[in-house]
Parts: sequence; C-alpha cells; structure tokens
Amino acid sequence: MRTRAGTTSPLTELERKQVRAPVPKDWTYAPAPESRDIVRLEKQYGHYVGGEWLEPTDTYTTISPASEEPLAEIGQATRAEVHQAVAAARKAFDNGWSEISPSERAKYLFRIARILQERSREFAVLESLNGGKPIKESRDVDLPLAAAHFFYYAGWADKLEYAFPNQKRRPVGVAGQIIPWNFPLLMLAWKIAPALAAGNTVVLKPAETTPLTALLFCDVVRQAELPAGVVNIVTGDGRTGVEIVKAEGVDKIAFTGSTEVGKAIQRELAGSGKKLTLELGGKAANIIFDDAALDQAVEGIVNGIYFNQGHVCCAGSRLLVQESIYEPVVDKLKRRLTTLRVGDPLDKNTDVGAINSKQQLEKIEELVASGAEEGAEIYQPPCRLPEKGYWFVPTVFTNVAQSYRIAQEEIFGPVLSILTFRTPEEAVEKANNTPYGLSAGVWTEKGSRILWMAERLRAGVVWANTYNRFDPSSPFGGYKESGFGREGGRHGLEPYLQLDESEAFGG
Ligand code: NDP
Repeated sequence: MRTRAGTTSPLTELERKQVRAPVPKDWTYAPAPESRDIVRLEKQYGHYVGGEWLEPTDTYTTISPASEEPLAEIGQATRAEVHQAVAAARKAFDNGWSEISPSERAKYLFRIARILQERSREFAVLESLNGGKPIKESRDVDLPLAAAHFFYYAGWADKLEYAFPNQKRRPVGVAGQIIPWNFPLLMLAWKIAPALAAGNTVVLKPAETTPLTALLFCDVVRQAELPAGVVNIVTGDGRTGVEIVKAEGVDKIAFTGSTEVGKAIQRELAGSGKKLTLELGGKAANIIFDDAALDQAVEGIVNGIYFNQGHVCCAGSRLLVQESIYEPVVDKLKRRLTTLRVGDPLDKNTDVGAINSKQQLEKIEELVASGAEEGAEIYQPPCRLPEKGYWFVPTVFTNVAQSYRIAQEEIFGPVLSILTFRTPEEAVEKANNTPYGLSAGVWTEKGSRILWMAERLRAGVVWANTYNRFDPSSPFGGYKESGFGREGGRHGLEPYLQLDESEAFGG
C-alpha cells in the first residue's frame, strides 16, 4: 500500500481480512438467529393482581406458533379472579392513585418507558417467540413504539389542563382493557399509558395466544415501583374477556379486536353507563395513482400488507391501481415478492414470520380458497416453508371483483387483493365500498390530490406516500364498523376522563 508521501505502509488488520475474504458462492442469506437465552420463562404464570401473583385455578398452554413448542402454562381467569382484579384496581384508585399529584403519575410512566427501553431486547425476543412476528419488527417497531407511548403520555400527565382547557377533568375510575394478539405489547402500551396518565387504574387481558409480554410487563411494573393494584393483568380466553366486560366495578371498557366481538360488547354495555371505545377490523384501500414513484409505491404495498404477516387491522389489503400503470406495478410487485424471506421469526433476516395460530391459519386458508373459487387469479412466489408451525406464503390476487369475499372481508393474513380504477372519483368510490373505515393509503406526487382524496376517504387514518406509520402523538381509530374512539395523541386521553365544562366555569 502506498501512502500519500509515496512510502509503503503495512496493511491494517481489517484490510488484511478484507483481502483474504472469499467471494461468496451465491448471495442467499446465511441464517442470523437472535439468541433466545435472554428470555427466562417460568413454567407457569398466574394473574397479577394487587401487585402480587395469584395462583390460577385453571391453566392452558401457550406455544410458539413457529415451532408449536409449548412455552408455559398460563392462567385461565375465572369470574372470581376477574372480580378480585377489579377490586384491587378499585382499591388502588380510591386509596390514592387518582389523587396523587400529576407529576408523580408522570414519574411512574416515565420509569416504565425507561425500563422498557432497557429491557427491549428481552421483550422483542419474547414477542417474536410467542407471537410469530419477525424479530426485526418486534425489535425495530413494537418495542420502540411501546416505550414511546409511555414517554408521550408521561408528558401529558401533568398537562391535562392544557389538553382540555376550561373543563373540569376527573379520571373515569377502573378501566377494563381487552387486547388482541397482533401487537401484544404495543396494544398494552396504547391502553395502559393514557389510562394511567389520566389517573385511572386498569385490569387488562392480553389475547389467549400471546400473553407472555404482558406477563413480563408485570415485572416492569414492579421495577417501576408502581403502587399495588394500579395495573392488574389477568389472562385467559374470550370467557375472561366477557367477565371483564360484565364486571360491576369496571367504569370503562377499551377493546381492540374483531368487529364481531366489538358488536357483542356494545350490545352488552348498552344502557350500563360504562364508557366504551372500540378499535375493530379494517379492509383498507392502498391507492396508487399513475404519477406515483412506482418503486417506492411497491415498497409501500409490501409494507402495507406483508408487515406482521398481514395481522394488522389497518393493513392495506385492497390495492387499487390506476389502470394505466397496472402492468408495471403488478410485475414489480411479483418480482419483489420473490425476495421476501419467510421463516424463523427469530432470524434477523426474516421478513414474514409465522401465522399467529392454527385457527388464524385456517381462516386465511378458507378465504384464499374462496378467492380462487370466485374467479380471482392467485400468485404466490416460490417459497420453502418450515415443516412445523403455522405458515402462509405471501399471496397476491389479481382479477378481483369488488363483490368477492377477498375484497370484502378482513383476511388478517399476508394476502393482497388487486383492483383497478380509472379516475380519482372511481378510486374514492371503490375505496369507500366497505363496511369498514379504519385506514387508507394514497400514492401520488400531487399534494392537491392527496388532500382531495383525504377529504373524501371515509377512513380514520390516511397515509400519503407511505403506509403503516405510527406515532404516539397521532390519533388512531375508525369510522363505521371499524369502531369509535381514538387512541394516541391528545384525543387518546379523552376516553379516560370525565370532562365537565360547567364545573370549571362555576368554580
Ligand atoms: P377477537 O375479537 O376474538 O379477540 C380480541 C380480544 O378479545 C382477545 O383478547 C379475545 O380473547 C377477547 N375476546 C374474545 N371474545 C370475547 C368476548 N365475547 N368478550 C370480550 N372479549 C372477548 O379476535 P380473534 O383473536 O378471534 O380474531 C378473529 C378475527 O378478528 C381475526 O381474524 C381478524 O380478522 C380480527 N382481528 C382484528 C384485530 C384488530 O386489531 N382490529 C385484532 C385481532 C383480530 P381470546 O384471545 O382468548 O380470544
């Protein structure tokens, strides 16, 4: 090697290695597994009630969907156990949590956020192990966003008078919170952070198939020295959810899950005086205009539907492509699909992980079969799936009519239905032709068109030239059968507060 002065200098160690490094024979990815040693699983978990672990009366086994390997025994909470948790939450509410200074409440939320950051690798590995999502998503999306949510609401806890000026604000009381399996820890954060910031206490039930990060979160609560009973976690299937909804001491229900269960909860609570927010399903349209940057749009389509195996309520599951660019978009998309790596969720190279449960896999398979039967054309890239576990190849349907079930029903899997349109008016009409109204995406280079579309799309969130972007400061929620109420942002505090204008003006 020659230096600038023309003298010869010895190779550095790194340069020597580079000189010796062989040229790879092919460019396939070598496995890059994340170690699971950081996670210490208990044999059995009880319910976290009043700051202590309750021995469960009944249990079931939670598994890894990628290997079907049993991971731990989990409590199936009975009515009595749910009532115990509600009583603990009520006691904590009455004995000080609702009265402590807002900046004290902020302190606890801030601590939780910090601990989540410190333990994020442990949580990410556990999330992927129990839920099947790729580690790069749990590591780079779920965990940072969950911590950000706690930080964000820590910031609001002592500023509620600015969030709702000229209104008297009181916490609602005990919040019953029921969450799904697609973003277990993130949904927990969306529920618990605003509830606590507003001065409520909570009883939360994670989904039957993904309880482990919620149970690990109890240890974060302990580390943060949160007063006993402020956060209570009970586990179990839908029967436990029913008991939370019915429990007398619960003042507010926050539910995320299927539209069917959401409707049942709404019927159950009618006339009860309990507050309710519902974040339900979706069948979002991702709309690509012919002036869009196509390569970026194709990445947005892939992120919109294959992120988290399509287990996303706001997934861009209906692709609306302007007719003039239909062929290049479909060609680019099919080519991109061949590069997606499906497999071990704990491998850092994996793009698409395991389907969350056997039940969900069967639902996807049934809907995909209906698409082929109704006349749509199916495309699946060549893909070797692991022998054990629950898997589904990323799938694209073309020749889809609006009436087909795959264009109407929420599949909640890695399955995209492609339709076309000619004019912006037709795009709006097709996008809104669904009972849902959670989200939409618009791809175009024209700002004016983005605003024109956003005004007309009946969706709670409209992304422009991007998709599936979340931020704690941005409210999220639906119209129509996608539910009501908002989570995130200042709006996310409102369901956890009683607001009274007259008292503030009077006093
Ligand atoms: P559910 O709506 O059944 O589950 C959501 C949560 O509610 C879970 O904790 C569940 O417990 C609980 N639950 C179930 N039944 C009741 C009840 N009667 N009262 C109170 N709580 C109840 O969704 P699934 O897991 O069955 O998924 C079915 C479909 O729902 C999916 O295929 C998808 O289309 C959609 N879905 C939408 C989600 C969204 O984010 N919008 C999230 C999840 C699913 P348990 O886990 O034990 O069933």
